[in-house]
Amino acid sequence: MVTRYRGRFAPTPSGPLHAGSVVAALASWLDARAHGGTWVVRIEDTDTPRCIPGADHHILHQLDRLGLRSDEPVRWQSPSPSQDAYEAAWRALQAKGWAYGCACSRQDIERALARVGGLNTGQPAAAVYPGTCRTGLGGRTPRAWRVRVEGHWAWHDRRLGPQSQDLPREVGDFVIRRADGLWAYQLAVVVDDAAQGITDVVRGEDLADNTPRQQHLQRLLGLPLPRYLHTPLVWACDGQKLSKQTGAMAVDVDRPLSVLQAAAQVGRGLTADDLPEALAKVLEA
Ligand code: GLU
Repeated sequence: MVTRYRGRFAPTPSGPLHAGSVVAALASWLDARAHGGTWVVRIEDTDTPRCIPGADHHILHQLDRLGLRSDEPVRWQSPSPSQDAYEAAWRALQAKGWAYGCACSRQDIERALARVGGLNTGQPAAAVYPGTCRTGLGGRTPRAWRVRVEGHWAWHDRRLGPQSQDLPREVGDFVIRRADGLWAYQLAVVVDDAAQGITDVVRGEDLADNTPRQQHLQRLLGLPLPRYLHTPLVWACDGQKLSKQTGAMAVDVDRPLSVLQAAAQVGRGLTADDLPEALAKVLEA
């Protein structure tokens, strides 16, 4: 049986859409249309400290103005049916012996890595968890929950081609339930993609290196693996990645056609050098 294409755009409501997120939204919408498939919007609001009140409706308004409308009712991650599904997945991973409680604070991890000479970047975000709590908590109280990783992961990206990641060496056992009790993005996205029957994930290239973690969880949970396509990033004039964190300007949805035209140029004809200027023209026009 051929599974019908189902794609999604899954913004975090941490701010309005910027030119980079429009590229991902347009690409996933076009891919769904090109395959005669269904395209849905999911608001990824599990990371409540990052969410800005009203940003979800702002994003939906921007998408609406751009003509990118969800074929099915928009789904939010925060209501209880989704939360129950994340909890069930977490319990399943524990029952299978893949998830374990971790009592380490960030400082504990840094200290443990420094002892073995594994922290050389000085960037906690780049720290690979040394596995301290893998074999037990030694009487300490769990703060977060992690999932064990193993093996070298090879996967195929529809645009980038063959990709690989050594999960234990490059990522380490990663968090699925955070110390603040919130569900981690990796767990939520996998559970939601499966619950919504997503066959094709089309999203920005900045998320490409999350794919092995997500496929690892899909395998452990017995979920189908979607196909993945990561779209080119839009760079700001200073060479920085355009993102909500770097304060990228919201797109001007009063000029929907210009915004879509600029988004459609990404990866087609314009070089990385031309692009910021082209987008800046659209955004400032
Ligand atoms: N919510 C994520 C973001 O806005 C995207 C997640 C995904 O597409 O997998 O960056």
